[in-house]
Order: sequence, then C-alpha cells, then structure tokens
Amino acid sequence: MWDFLKRYVSQYNGMIMSIPEFARDDLDIPQMAIPPSIDPLSPKNVPLPETTVHRVVTRFGVDLDRPIVLQVSRFDRAKDPVGVIEAYRLAKRHVPDLQLVYLGSPAADDPEGEIVYQETVKAAGDDKDIHLLMLPPNSHTEVNAFQRAATVVMQKSIREGFGLTVSEALWKRKPVIGGNTGGIRIQVINGVTGFLVDTPKAAAHYLIYLLRNKKAREEMGEAGREHVGRNFLITQELRRYLMAILFLTGRHAG
Ligand code: UDP
Repeated sequence: MWDFLKRYVSQYNGMIMSIPEFARDDLDIPQMAIPPSIDPLSPKNVPLPETTVHRVVTRFGVDLDRPIVLQVSRFDRAKDPVGVIEAYRLAKRHVPDLQLVYLGSPAADDPEGEIVYQETVKAAGDDKDIHLLMLPPNSHTEVNAFQRAATVVMQKSIREGFGLTVSEALWKRKPVIGGNTGGIRIQVINGVTGFLVDTPKAAAHYLIYLLRNKKAREEMGEAGREHVGRNFLITQELRRYLMAILFLTGRHAG
C-alpha cells in the first residue's frame, strides 16, 4: 500500500500525519505530526440540556438511572466490537445493572461493515442490556447525548489512526478505556484521563474499577477535559497548521 501511495505523497511539499509514529523514513519531504481536533461548538460537542440527553437516551430504551458503558464506532474489526461485548460481559458479573450501548453507523465506503455488524449481533445474543444502535451518519445530537449520558466510554480499538471519539468523550468529562494503539495513546494518558488496554479482560478490570469509583471518574473526567482543551480543539489544530505553513514557506524562501 505504501509503495503505491509513496509515488504520489513524495510529490507534495510536506506530509502531515496524526502522530509521529506514522512518519516514514523513506521520504525526502518534511513530515509533521498534527493530530485532528474537535470543534466544541459543533452539534456533536456543544453542551446539551439534560432534557435533550434524557429524551434521546430513553427513546432508544436505555435507562439513565443505571450505569452505561458506551462505544461509538463504525462496525469495523479494528474497533473490536466483539471485544467490547466481551469486556462488558466480564464486568457485568460484578456490576449486574450495567448496560452497553454500541453506537455505529453504516459506512458506504466499508464493505465489511455489514459482516462485522452481524458478528456483533451474534456476540450480543439475547442480552436485553446490550443496545446495538445503527444510526444515520449525521446523528450528531444523538452521539453527543449518549456521550454525555455514559458512565464510562470505551474505545477498544486494536488499530487506530487518531480516534476522534476519544477526544469527544474526554471533552465531555468522561474517562475513556482505550485500546493501546495509534492516536488513542496521546489522548488517553494511562491512569490520568483513562486507561490503555490490550485485552477485553484488562478493559473489564478498569471498567469495574471506574464503575465503582465515582471520585476516580470525576477526577479523570476533569483531567480529560483539560487535556483536550489544551491539545485537541480546533484552535490548536489551526495554530499547528499555521506553524506548518510558516515552516514550509520559510524553507522554500531559504
Ligand atoms: N461517528 C458517528 N456516528 C457513528 C459512529 C461514529 O457520528 O455511529 C463519528 C464519531 O463521533 C467520530 C467519527 O465518526 O467523530 C469517527 O472518527 P474516529 O476517528 O473515532 O474513527 P474512524 O471512523 O475515522 O476510524
């Protein structure tokens, strides 16, 4: 894949990747890491009245009075939906009233989506506390409401470019249990804004810990909000792009 892309990428003045790990050592152009960002004023992230959160969540049969673990992701193996269900099951043995919401949307550019969705349905079985929701791609208020309603957010990816859902959740003061991969590693500061995990068992372990510790949830949520505020809002991205342009134009002038 890279051999194919390289022919085109190398014709540009620079390459921007989400994290330094994705830099290439076989490119002669400057490479800069600029992570994507979230817009705090967009419908996905803007503050919502509690009544809206309540209305959206109850419309889908989810109980706001019981703990909710949420993952927002396409049905893609890289997002490990079956691993999310496994982690939820292990945690539910200890926290019986736990509910899982997996919120996905059909992606026209993802031919495997339907297959992975069916695998996830099968893994969920007849558990009434697992809500697999397939919403239209522009359901921003719904995603926003579920992120606000969640007790803990999970992003158990096994491969990830950046993982915008992580910043979206942290900004809403939710601790995130994230797969130890790609851009999740610069958003989830292990033990500070959430936990990094490699297995469903580890995810379940931290999920139980967080479900039982309101104070830890609140402290991590606050740390997450601050981390995103400092690093992953559009204002930061704009600043980094301006720096990149300065660097590139300076280079060409020289
Ligand atoms: N998203 C959404 N509805 C869904 C699933 C995902 O709106 O059902 C949004 C999610 O809120 C995020 C984006 O799609 O803004 C996914 O970006 P991310 O970087 O997490 O993963 P990608 O899908 O690009 O691998």
